[in-house]
Amino acid sequence: MTRSTKLTSKIRNLKDYHSRIINNVIPQPTGIDAANTLKYFSQTLLSILKDVPNIPAESYGPRQRDSVRLSIFPNLNYSGLYHAVLNMIDLVPIVQIGQLELGEAVLNVLGCLVPFLEHELLDSLPYTVASTLAIFPPTLHKDTIDLLCSNLLPMTLGFDGCVEPSYASESAAAIITMVFQHTDNGSYHSQILECFMSIKRDIIKDILSIIAYGPPSARAPAANLLFYYWPQLNPSLSDRRGIHYKYSAWPPVLCQRENCVNSGNCQAVKMCLNPALAIHSRDKPPPLYICSDCADVLRKDHSEYMMDILLPMSHVSTICENKNCKSKNNATLSTCFSIECACFNGNRPIRYCQNCHEVHHASQQGIRHVYHLSIPVIWSCTPEMQRYLMDAIISLLKEAQPLESKRSLEMGEELRHRIGEEDDMFEVEDAGERKLLSRYGIWLLVELCKPKDDIPIEILGRLLGMLFQWFDATAYLPDDNVGNALERLKSEYITNWLKEVNKSHLEVIVSCLLPHPVEYARVGGFWDTLATRTTQIKEGLNCFFCLVPYDIITFQVNNTGFRLIQNILLTFFLTVIY
Ligand SMILES: [Zn+2]
Ligand SMILES: [Zn+2]
Ligand SMILES: [Zn+2]
Ligand SMILES: [Zn+2]
Repeated sequence: MTRSTKLTSKIRNLKDYHSRIINNVIPQPTGIDAANTLKYFSQTLLSILKDVPNIPAESYGPRQRDSVRLSIFPNLNYSGLYHAVLNMIDLVPIVQIGQLELGEAVLNVLGCLVPFLEHELLDSLPYTVASTLAIFPPTLHKDTIDLLCSNLLPMTLGFDGCVEPSYASESAAAIITMVFQHTDNGSYHSQILECFMSIKRDIIKDILSIIAYGPPSARAPAANLLFYYWPQLNPSLSDRRGIHYKYSAWPPVLCQRENCVNSGNCQAVKMCLNPALAIHSRDKPPPLYICSDCADVLRKDHSEYMMDILLPMSHVSTICENKNCKSKNNATLSTCFSIECACFNGNRPIRYCQNCHEVHHASQQGIRHVYHLSIPVIWSCTPEMQRYLMDAIISLLKEAQPLESKRSLEMGEELRHRIGEEDDMFEVEDAGERKLLSRYGIWLLVELCKPKDDIPIEILGRLLGMLFQWFDATAYLPDDNVGNALERLKSEYITNWLKEVNKSHLEVIVSCLLPHPVEYARVGGFWDTLATRTTQIKEGLNCFFCLVPYDIITFQVNNTGFRLIQNILLTFFLTVIY
């Protein structure tokens, strides 16, 4: 039998397993039967890779790969195999015996298929693999994240910063959400995010969109990691009180070379994307990861294939890490994930001040680095980014609201949590921790939304409307760490910001406090529930009284503030009368 006919008949076996399991036909194949067939495919694909002739490194960029693939691999039904394997994913949670074996074999063969697939199929693979986190046994989480971070994402997205959007790069937010939502291991969270930070330039947009629109279990890690990797967003770097987030570094990849000098127990420092090196690998599909001793051995023949790999960003410096930095203001605002810069920092992503950032990223080479800058003030963001930032702030401020109102608001979400496997995780997460997340929203609001003339009042009004609901939700805080941390923000930090708004946009403040505020200011609190008109007025008045102790509109000169309060109250009473 030729390799091609054998492959076809084995694909037919897979389809047969699938229909017998789905239709409950006796005898039922076990997960182990299906896994053994899948192992045949992995071995076949690996053996093809080991026969591959030497491909010049420069002809194996992400764009040339399709033509390389056609010219060097035997003509087999790879896409047929790919679809048959994808079909097996749904079987993993329903087979009685061998779930783990089947899940593992599916992930394995998908990894081996990567060099053989055309771009269009490859593009959706990272998201498909990430979605198995929801249905495969949790013991496979590590394999799944490793497959994504050390194989699929570098192989599909390359290292040009994803300037050209593709399906794979556009699914970044969805993939990260899957990892945050279905795993509670902090090292997986940092691993997936740092992986994307090293290949996608505008990853900040994805993080903000997860905070804005993601499920609760993904919002919290997204917010914590945003402030971990962008510490300049934190206005009180010295004040670490109440910050509970602790970074966990992801475990290093170990050397995969067949005859590793250190028997494979050594941390890999280099990676080779080119399948021509597969012959040196034990049982792993490309890319091949090797330790520094093995790199010395292989360098003679393959030096042009090797690239250094990044190490975990276990420290995020707030001062410039360029050893020759001469700037007076050496506060950091950029992080470069390109190895050409990271190599100055022991292969960890490096943090630069303004000046050093410009020096390193002005040249033709430097312009192409994958680096991350601060978020600009909201008024100078693109409309898309403005929307994400505004919605992220609103979502964070809503974290301070009591859970009951969130329950009714996000019924579907909460219900799923209560019956799902994440039940425990969500219950343990206490209300205080959630309320504390709202502080991030305040920081983003005050630091990035400084009021000035000529700004879209819809954005300002919406943010104000939500901020007033936050005052309402945090009016009666317990006298503990969380309560004090939030209360401290009100007395000066927020009030100073509000004073500025008062000077330039008093009319927007007033319009948000009236019994029937403009549409865009109706956000958060009771506005998210199906409240009656009477409740709306009652709640609105209550919210207004929560603000009175903080002198929000009384710091006017000439007593205009008092007159305004009178007028607002009068409007409330008139509304009630009619
Ligand atoms: Zn080695
Ligand atoms: Zn070789
Ligand atoms: Zn510097
Ligand atoms: Zn750089």
